[in-house]
Amino acid sequence: MTPAATPFEAGAFHPDHGTRRVAGRMSLEGGLVRFEAESLQFTLPVEGLTVRLGGASDRLIFFEHPEMPGISVFTSDRTVLEQPAFAQNAALGRARGKIRQTQWLSRGVLFAVVLALAAVLAGIWLAKDSMVESVAAKVPAGWEQKLGEAAFVQFSLGHKFLTDDELKRQLDQLAAPLLAVVPQDRYPFTLHLVEDPSLNAFALPGGKVMLHSGLLLAADTPEEVLGVLAHELAHVTRQHGVRGIVSNLGLYAVVTFFVGDVSGVAAILVNNAPFLLSQKFSRDHEREADEQGFRYLEAAGLNPRGLITFFDKVRAEEESLKAKVPGGQALDALGFLSTHPATSERQARLERLIAESGRRDAFKAVDLDFAAFQQLLRSKLSLMGSATNSAAPLQAQP
Ligand SMILES: [Zn+2]
Repeated sequence: MTPAATPFEAGAFHPDHGTRRVAGRMSLEGGLVRFEAESLQFTLPVEGLTVRLGGASDRLIFFEHPEMPGISVFTSDRTVLEQPAFAQNAALGRARGKIRQTQWLSRGVLFAVVLALAAVLAGIWLAKDSMVESVAAKVPAGWEQKLGEAAFVQFSLGHKFLTDDELKRQLDQLAAPLLAVVPQDRYPFTLHLVEDPSLNAFALPGGKVMLHSGLLLAADTPEEVLGVLAHELAHVTRQHGVRGIVSNLGLYAVVTFFVGDVSGVAAILVNNAPFLLSQKFSRDHEREADEQGFRYLEAAGLNPRGLITFFDKVRAEEESLKAKVPGGQALDALGFLSTHPATSERQARLERLIAESGRRDAFKAVDLDFAAFQQLLRSKLSLMGSATNSAAPLQAQP
């Protein structure tokens, strides 16, 4: 005896009801497909029955008979395929096999589509940095200079500059061999001496580089200043300021600018000028600036060890600031000295670069009496009534 067939939620089309679908229940037993609804009852013989997938996304299983055209029964309940009739009737068994195969195929296709979509998204995500880089490269030099100019004006409001001609001349003399190897076709670089006791330096898009008096006085050798300067120049040539702003706009904007034109970036850039004065470069950008800065020092024949030894002073400064303010908040007061990546890690990377370069001596001598330069700086600072020691008070990062 076969177990009583379970009725399934089903629908039917029948000529008596035109094109309207009728909701009811179906069962599959005794060699018949039976459909029952209040207004409609009929049966289809299992012998010669066609069973196929249909409806939106092949969600439904249809039962039809060639001798009863215009009539069909359908259900979305796939457990109907477990009915004994499918095992007992060879033609039905084959139809079930075909349906299952189709389901597996469509699941496979769906899985492949999802996988491909995920791969595309991951690819876009991974390509974000290089898209940002390419967007930044498309930004006209004039816009970048305007951006730097806007930030510079804002910075100037809260800071004093040392504008003494002789100081300026000596600073330019110090920087000359380095600037000679840094590409200046996009914009010229200008150095600005800021009266500020903190060990800091920073650069703005478009080529303005700020050196704090505290940094110049804390340096033991001119190579230390040149090391920091090379790092800052690299931030400019690698467009880290613009890249930081574009990257912050989010993936959608980046992709839009990447595939379209960059004219929409102009307004965004200038609006973000204040951001340049508070931004922290990403870990990757700091690494990139260290490495590119090293290349500039190498090309200029200058001893790159100055950057490494200056980092020792940075570390001492970090320690003393940490001691002054528990919790590390004070470290935000350090720009160039930013804590990520860790200073020791940056030093180790530079040591590796030096080892790889194979050059250990015969570096170019710096054409400046550095001690006399520092003395002149001290005297100008005291004329301004400024403290000349390099102990950095806590202050907002420029
Ligand atoms: Zn930096």
